[in-house]
Amino acid sequence: MDHFQYRSGEMFAEEVPISRLADDVGTPFYCYSTATLKRHYRVFADALNGLDASICYAVKANSNIAVIAALARLGAGADVVSIGEMKRALVAGVPAANILFSGVGKTEDEMASALKAGVLQINVESAPELETLSTVASSLGIDANVAIRVNPDVDALTHEKISTGKSENKFGVDWPEVPGVYARAAALPGINVTGVAVHIGSQLLDLDPFRQAYGMVVDLVRTLRADGHRIEHLDLGGGLGIPYDNEQPPSPKEYGTMVKEVVGDLDCKIFFEPGRLIAGNAGILVTRVVRVKKGTARTFIIVDAAMNDLVRPTLYNAHHAIVPVNEAPDGAKLTEVEVVGPICETGDTFGRQFLPEPGEGDLLAIRTAGAYGAVMASAYNTRALVPEVMVNGADASVIRDRISVDDMLSRESLPDWLSDDEEARGQEQKEAGD
Ligand SMILES: *Cc1c(COP(=O)(O)O)cnc(C)c1O
Repeated sequence: MDHFQYRSGEMFAEEVPISRLADDVGTPFYCYSTATLKRHYRVFADALNGLDASICYAVKANSNIAVIAALARLGAGADVVSIGEMKRALVAGVPAANILFSGVGKTEDEMASALKAGVLQINVESAPELETLSTVASSLGIDANVAIRVNPDVDALTHEKISTGKSENKFGVDWPEVPGVYARAAALPGINVTGVAVHIGSQLLDLDPFRQAYGMVVDLVRTLRADGHRIEHLDLGGGLGIPYDNEQPPSPKEYGTMVKEVVGDLDCKIFFEPGRLIAGNAGILVTRVVRVKKGTARTFIIVDAAMNDLVRPTLYNAHHAIVPVNEAPDGAKLTEVEVVGPICETGDTFGRQFLPEPGEGDLLAIRTAGAYGAVMASAYNTRALVPEVMVNGADASVIRDRISVDDMLSRESLPDWLSDDEEARGQEQKEAGD
């Protein structure tokens, strides 16, 4: 359920007509619905009722500070994977004590910043990372709260680029090495072992891999406690999938029930790190048709959004439903068209779909674009960085401006030897003569 619905044939975000936003902001732009974000958060939180649970929103799914702030107001903490994300979470009002710091390549600077900020826990992904963290924490005189992220070697049955819990993936400590890493952690200065963490992938459509991984982790907690480790936190990661097309992911309720069965009364505080589930359906990418090009093989609908604005279709072969902002009249004929961007790559496509054939200037909405959309946008082909708008009831606010081509060019400069500047070039010629 989301709050992008038609009213008298026109798509609205909550109480705001999309076409009005398009007139105000220009296209393409992302549009997020606060009510949808909140709804998804609450449905997930309700499904965990009865557990001593804490939801740390995975900021990487959509890291706009307004999105984080909307969730923080509901009590969400944050899961961050860089110091940049930690800064966003803090600016958005998430207390450091509710921030989990994950990631496979934390630098010493990042560790130090996280420790100084006082984050809840650092999820360590390897033995060498643990050694470095011990050194950094000791030199600061701070004890780092640490969970070891374990790799249970479980197939998440998802796209290979977002599977993270197999032994051939770079994430977490390999299962056979886990007890040794905990023993080392207990012996190292500056390290305070608090828990175990696991995250096996994203867009999971089946509960079984979760069940298997979580079951292994529960057994591990028992073993670690028997070895004398104090395990108070269990971080079960994110990864629950959402429907983009006809997928039928488990509901949050089914997921919650499974967690309760598997984790039972382990007497741990349990952390969840959902990203996509919260943000995915809370956003659309709005784009305008630039041109209709009828080829011999296909009809191309060329729009002003492109793979640089939303890379999921070309990166993961992901499907996103595309719908007209102004509904076609009842009984309008559907034709198969391919919706493509203007970028000079054949991969710049949003996919083939049956649509009432749009005309030049029509607005289209690319749905389920709230997660891994704007955060992955680039300026490829020197295209302005796509803006973001947030709606809340009848209010709308630009929460990230379009970063213009002029902004980008203002950060580039010619080196002296290519400059038209007389003095600089004179210097160059003089050196050439020497
Ligand atoms: C990406 C990621 C998440 C969020 O995954 P979703 O599929 O968006 O829920 C959670 N935890 C970690 C460690 C991640 O890397």
